[in-house]
Amino acid sequence: MVSTSVPETRGESQNQSRRRSATEIERGNADVSDHEMSGIRVGVLALQGDFAAHALALEAAGVGEVVEVRRPRQLDGLAGLVMPGGESTTLLRLLALERMDDAIREFHARGGHLFGTCAGLILLAKEVEAPSQASLGLLDVTVQRNGFGRQRESFVDQSKLEWPGRPAESTEVVFIRAPRILRVGPGVDVLVRWKDEPVLVQQGRILGATFHPELSSGVPIHRLWAGGLAAVSL
Ligand code: GLN
Repeated sequence: MVSTSVPETRGESQNQSRRRSATEIERGNADVSDHEMSGIRVGVLALQGDFAAHALALEAAGVGEVVEVRRPRQLDGLAGLVMPGGESTTLLRLLALERMDDAIREFHARGGHLFGTCAGLILLAKEVEAPSQASLGLLDVTVQRNGFGRQRESFVDQSKLEWPGRPAESTEVVFIRAPRILRVGPGVDVLVRWKDEPVLVQQGRILGATFHPELSSGVPIHRLWAGGLAAVSL
């Protein structure tokens, strides 16, 4: 159920509770209490890759229940699904084997939120290059696999996180054989750039990162993403 106001909390009168707009909630920039975060269920696609690190990051962000998802019916009752990094070609094969490709499209169509990181972003992209390969095509970007090249296979840096409606803050970015976003469609917002290149993008209920926010010491991006889910599932 979508609620547009903060539920009355202990010791807070209705006048004091701040009303939140639908856009604020969709974007995840409403301030969400620990209590609200503890009430949500989020899935992590657990076919291959670093799903365990995402589960820990979501728990550290205060998400109430994190479940590993391997089969379509495990998506039932979830507010969102994280699609982790790994090897996108392997993930594509496993998705098709379990019929998870259609299930994820349907999950998104009926209101589910998606967050793809690295290979997860490659799976969500509309177009994939180097080489060209199939994808779910839900996020209007073109990505180039391993776009940062061999000499930069792994590196850590700092970038600016510009989450809509929040003051910009510094955030750690961890790149591991990361894809490069070559094209961003008109409905896609860029939330983090690294050296002028888009590395965290959002289109409606889909968030995609070329880097690995689950490997950073803090988990601000998981917290903001899950905060949006907590707000809509009140
Ligand atoms: N290079 C991998 C691929 O193309 C992605 C790497 C990652 O997810 N860390 O699938």
